[in-house]
Amino acid sequence: MGDLYIDGAWVGAAGGERREVVNPFDASVVTTVDEAGAKDVDRAVRAARRAFEEEEWASAPVRRRSDLLLEVSRLLLRDQEEIARIETADTGKTLTEARIDVEDVSNAFRYFAEIAGKDGGRVVDVGPDVLSRVVYAPIGVCALIAPWNYPLLQASWKVAPALAAGNTFVLKPSETTPLSTIHMLRLIEEAGAPPGVANLVLGSGATVGAAMTEHPEVDLVSFTGGLSTGRRIMAAAAEGPKNIALELGGKNPNVVFADCDFEAAVDNALNASFLHSGQVCSAGSRLLVQDTLHDRFVARLAERAARIRLGDGTDERTESGPLSSAEHREKVERYLEIGRSEGARVVCGGKRPDDPALARGFFLEPTVFADCDRSMRIVQEEVFGPVVTVERFRDEEEAVRLANDTRYGLAGAVWTSDASRAQRVAGRLRHGTVWINDFHPYVPQAEWGGFGLSGVGRELGPTGLREYQEAKHVYQNLRPAVSGWFKG
Ligand code: NAP
Repeated sequence: MGDLYIDGAWVGAAGGERREVVNPFDASVVTTVDEAGAKDVDRAVRAARRAFEEEEWASAPVRRRSDLLLEVSRLLLRDQEEIARIETADTGKTLTEARIDVEDVSNAFRYFAEIAGKDGGRVVDVGPDVLSRVVYAPIGVCALIAPWNYPLLQASWKVAPALAAGNTFVLKPSETTPLSTIHMLRLIEEAGAPPGVANLVLGSGATVGAAMTEHPEVDLVSFTGGLSTGRRIMAAAAEGPKNIALELGGKNPNVVFADCDFEAAVDNALNASFLHSGQVCSAGSRLLVQDTLHDRFVARLAERAARIRLGDGTDERTESGPLSSAEHREKVERYLEIGRSEGARVVCGGKRPDDPALARGFFLEPTVFADCDRSMRIVQEEVFGPVVTVERFRDEEEAVRLANDTRYGLAGAVWTSDASRAQRVAGRLRHGTVWINDFHPYVPQAEWGGFGLSGVGRELGPTGLREYQEAKHVYQNLRPAVSGWFKG
């Protein structure tokens, strides 16, 4: 049995190639998986096209689609521990976090099951002789491309609404983290998806991802990943043109006023910066602290960051795991060098840990850079590692100006005990999600996505379903008559 799921069957890659999946904790090989090529993508897209056009799924009663999603939601919880262990082996994240991810994925499936049939369109009042309705139809064949930091979670935010809307899809996880996605496809199969509705291909972005985005039978490309890949994908989709949804990176400000709850703000700044070793698109990696609190805040943050327990994600005492790959750690280390050369001061971390037990894994110490300013690359570019920069501000006006001084606009937070100021600042921040006195929570009922270079479109919420639908106007003349427009 192969690892690609095409037209309702588990098959190997046409070219017979395989790829090793590596555990970032100790660089051991977890397993090998089939590595697809352009031929496999073509088969998968054609299967999805056939399944879409046969209409068994696209025209199925909404109830059938909802039931399937609810069943997947249930099966995810049944297999929660197994999936969490797979995700930990693949990504290095802690088991605690991986378990929460599976719960969140299950919730996303349940949410889209619940809203699938909620919006039957709307009637447009044209007059007594016309019945005019706007309804929502599935788009068609969706190419879904997911990143490695939250492999299952990011894939589910695409798969669940795509299915709920009646589309068929071809999904590609990151080549480095395919295992939990393989498991999810098994659950979709077990739940009873018709052949060709859900398809999985594994392989590199350069070959498999590019073949998906360029394929003429694809109607929508939905991508989550880095900015430069997003640009390439948008250019490829323009050739169609195809519908496109992009969830890209972020450089997210965490704004702390002097009147905040000090311990809560420090604790959440730690979480904002170092959860999953900072490999989170919404990481609060740009900390802005009011002048009068700055020194005390930075000292406490660094003291706690230095105590974060790095280790094996399967060890329940571990608080943070390694970075996802050797190449990614090297990229983050280059940013550490850039930060130093730009004049940022390392308050803690800034290197690989000395602990010999961690030597084989791709670890970096949680790093706090102080004395930063907006001109620095380390402040403006997404590092995607356990690195937080700290800048000072004097007042509300300057805080807002700095927080909006980014090409990105994914998420941001404000910490203050002044309720009016909290609302004023939140109202002016140009970011897709703004937290007040919190950091990181999201819910499937609320839209997720970014302003500026953080992306195009939204996932989750009602808009997250709309991404997978075409609006269609059905106009019926109830009193047909000769129009008399042409006289001959
Ligand atoms: P990435 O390198 O851009 O890769 C993302 C996906 O795109 C992978 O499956 C990759 O394949 C594939 N890909 C690469 N080149 C491609 C091409 N030419 N055509 C089609 N597909 C291609 O991103 P990543 O390093 O995996 O993920 C980290 C980035 O994702 C960060 O920037 C982060 O902020 C962003 N992210 C954003 C959100 C959000 O909600 N906005 C959420 C999570 C992550 P391979 O890796 O298999 O080669």
